[in-house]
Amino acid sequence: LSNSTEANASAFLAACRAAIGESQVLTAEGDKHRFERDFWNQYRGRAAAVLRPGATEEVARIAALAAAHGIALVPQGGNTGLVNGGVPDASGAEVVLSLERMNKVRAIDASGDHMIVEAGCVLDAVQQAAAEAGRFFPLAMGSSGSCRIGGNLSTNAGGINVLRYGMARDLVLGLEVVLADGSVLDLLRPLRKDNTGYDLKQLFIGAEGTLGIITAAALRLVAIPRERVTAWLAVERPEDAIALFKRSRDSFGELISAFEMLCAPGVELAVAELPNVQRPVERRTPWYVLMDVAWMFESGLRARVEATLAEFLEAGLCIDGAIAETEAQRANMWRIREGQSEAASKHGYIIRSDVTVPIAEIPKLLSEIDSWRGRIPDEVTVLPFGHVGDGNLHVNFLVPAPRAQELYDPLLERLYDTVDRLRGSISAEHGIGRAKRRAVWARKPGAALELSARIKRALDPSNRLNPGVVIDPSEL
Ligand code: FAD
Ligand code: ZN
Repeated sequence: LSNSTEANASAFLAACRAAIGESQVLTAEGDKHRFERDFWNQYRGRAAAVLRPGATEEVARIAALAAAHGIALVPQGGNTGLVNGGVPDASGAEVVLSLERMNKVRAIDASGDHMIVEAGCVLDAVQQAAAEAGRFFPLAMGSSGSCRIGGNLSTNAGGINVLRYGMARDLVLGLEVVLADGSVLDLLRPLRKDNTGYDLKQLFIGAEGTLGIITAAALRLVAIPRERVTAWLAVERPEDAIALFKRSRDSFGELISAFEMLCAPGVELAVAELPNVQRPVERRTPWYVLMDVAWMFESGLRARVEATLAEFLEAGLCIDGAIAETEAQRANMWRIREGQSEAASKHGYIIRSDVTVPIAEIPKLLSEIDSWRGRIPDEVTVLPFGHVGDGNLHVNFLVPAPRAQELYDPLLERLYDTVDRLRGSISAEHGIGRAKRRAVWARKPGAALELSARIKRALDPSNRLNPGVVIDPSEL
């Protein structure tokens, strides 16, 4: 950094110390460390400093100071994002703005079915607070003990209940956002219906911190389902899993909250590598389905699911099946699903992906991937799994760590081209970050990039909010 840049950065930090307190401006290497790398330690950068404001007004002051001093801010929640959007770049000039201290539940209203929370609330804590008020907040994913609601909304996270309750976007009634110039946009009214112009809050949901900083949200709550039935099915072919999904929809409609598929090698890795995990059914088949069905009544659903499973077995759509009898059995089934990456990561480097295709095309996508055998190195293990009811698969490529760098782009490009041909998307729920920026825009119509750049320039004219993430207007 040049002398004048450094003087400017120190002036900025001095002003921040005055604005939010000495102890919330971290500059020591050891203090910054955990903010400079993501959950999986896959992406690393260097921050000039980490700021930890405790209130919306403090975030606003920081944004105004950053604008005045020309400092780039990287908003950060729980740092579990998977696309390199929440850690600073390598320059050492960016400043991390961590929302972790803003973790208050401001209000909760069971009769109005909503709650107002600050952006730094951990997802688990939001779910817990809702449960204590006798309501259910349905956003759920493997990272829920670490990710924060501001990050969830900024990535428009999906997770395991999308089928029934939608993505993060569908669970938001209102937002409070600090804009690039330091002004506060108060859209925090918890209204179901509000057709007074453009739905501005939606601009910031899924924007990955590039258009504003989310400081609080009004979230939609739902009733707590009383009876929940979890089933594990052993299936021979992806076509059968898709047929099972269709038949389950016919029988249970909206009551299905999760419909997940896993491949046999992924399940075997989970059983071998995760402590206290058991195979839910003894029969070995190439694929497994994990399904959650739930309703408002105390009982009666289980018998219906059992009857339907019997029909599925009869029709030969699944070879074996089990319904969780206890909470422990349910947890075991879900542990296998959620531990897919953790188990595989003990055997090498994981090149992750998050693709979606129209549901009917899933068998084609998988058979295409299968046909790569012989054309990709033998050491690559392909481990597809995911939210098949949403058309969303995480195709993990497990590769020997020393070959990760060389295989990363070729494997993903091959996958993305296939997904493109099937008219899918190369980012279903994780976002773009820096990791997918080029790959995404290379595939979208130019008009979409042009319009996105206009929005970015309108809201962040000097490109100070998470530059290089999602879109780089200078590349146009
Ligand atoms: P961060 O990683 O801190 O940030 C993510 C992005 O949002 C960054 O671009 C950041 O700059 C921006 N941001 C963060 N907070 C704010 C804010 N307050 N205002 C503006 N911008 C902000 N994702 C899914 O969708 N579904 C899954 O099932 C799922 N499972 C996962 C399982 C594991 C084990 C892990 C590690 C990750 C998983 N993820 C999943 C990805 C990740 O958890 C989500 O993307 C999550 O929403 C990120 O939240 P975070 O608080 O960690 O955000
Ligand atoms: Zn997922």
